[in-house]
This record gives sequence, C-alpha cells and structure tokens, in this order.
Amino acid sequence: VLLATRSMEENARQVGSELSNIRDRAVQAEEEIVKLQGELDKASVQARLDPLTGALNRRGLDEAFAREVARARGKGTPLCLAMLDIDNFKALNDTHGHKVGDTALTHLVNVARTSMRPQDTMARYGGEEFVILLPDTVIEHGVEAMQRLQRELTKRFFLQNNERLMITFSAGVALLDASETPDEAVKRADHAMYLAKRAGKNRVFAAS
Ligand code: GH3
Ligand code: MG
Ligand code: MG
Repeated sequence: VLLATRSMEENARQVGSELSNIRDRAVQAEEEIVKLQGELDKASVQARLDPLTGALNRRGLDEAFAREVARARGKGTPLCLAMLDIDNFKALNDTHGHKVGDTALTHLVNVARTSMRPQDTMARYGGEEFVILLPDTVIEHGVEAMQRLQRELTKRFFLQNNERLMITFSAGVALLDASETPDEAVKRADHAMYLAKRAGKNRVFAAS
C-alpha cells in the first residue's frame, strides 16, 4: 500500500508539472496572438494610407466615403466633398526638382491637418490631387473651409534651401445629392475644380 501511494504521489507531481508547462505555453501563445493581431492592425492601417503624405489613399478614401455617406443619409445631415489640385505643380518640379515637389505635397497635407476639423478626412486622390470629406457641412461652409485652407497656405510657405516657396491650389466643392453615388459627387467636384483652373487658378468653385 505504501509503495502504491508513493507511486501515485509521484504520478500526481508529474501531471502537475506537465499542466504547468502547458499553461505556460498557452500564455506564450496568447501573447504571440496579441502581437500578431497588433501587426495585422498596423498593416491594415498602412494599406489605406499614402506613404508619402500620410493622407488616406484611394482605398482608404473609398471606405471613408462609404462610411460618411451612410452616416449622412442615416442622420439626414449634409456631406460636402472638395477636390483640390495644386496649381502649376509641374513647374515647381521642373524648377526645384521632384524632391521639393514631394515636400510640397507633404506640406499641403500638414497645413490641411491643422486647419481642418478633426472629423474631416483628407485623401490623396492622385499625383497632386486631394479629396477632403466634410461631414455636417453645407456647400457655403465647404467653400469657406477651402478658402480658409488657401489663406493658411499663403501664410505658411515652406523653406527650401533658404528659399521661401509657396503653393496654391484650385478646388471644387460638391454637396452630396440625396440620390447620387459618391463617384458622381467626385465628378461634379472635379468639374468645378476644372472651372476654377480655367477662371485663373487659386480659387474655389461650388459645383452645380
Ligand atoms: P495645373 O495648375 O493646371 O494643375 O498644372 P500642373 O502643373 O499642376 O498640372 P499637371 O497635370 O500638368 O502636372 C502635374 C505634375 O505633378 C506632373 C507630375 O510629374 C507631378 N507629380 C505627380 N505625382 C507626383 C509626386 O508624387 N511627386 C512629385 N514631386 N511630383 C508629382
Ligand atoms: Mg492634376
Ligand atoms: Mg495641378
């Protein structure tokens, strides 16, 4: 009986130590999962950002736009969209080089970040074209917001080899219509932007 008891005790100790090993491995696996989930989240955010400027890319814009349209239609609030295009950007690149052009793009996004409201969304639409989503905004206020950004840009020139460089942009602003798709609103804003260019650049037009 004594021998049997001792062997049972020994068995129980072994099982206990194995259990504790398994528990340690489970804790390690859980930590690994948390770490991988964090990396996945980071990669998924990165996949929606423009690497140069940190603004949303087209994919990020499409998703943000769909979210804002659903919210605006659900709550019955106005949603404006602005299409911006930097003026004479090719000339800036040709005169000062592509790197300075890149700096100008980043500069525009940084200035916009400080001058827009937190709920506004900025996305790089193409080379030197940007889209800004303005929730809870009627067309007059959307136009004013873009004009404010223009004034801010003229105040905050950026330095390049001790030279003060200033950029301007032309913009079109469209108020999302009750029945139109996001793409149609983008087209209208783009057309208003084109008219702003034709009228002499560095101005903001409301889309009809
Ligand atoms: P406009 O006032 O009519 O808009 O003229 P623009 O010169 O701004 O427009 P255009 O479409 O003729 O030229 C756009 C230029 O933007 C040409 C292209 O090389 C440059 N560009 C596009 N993407 C980038 C980029 O990521 N970095 C830099 N540095 N330049 C870029
Ligand atoms: Mg352009
Ligand atoms: Mg341009």
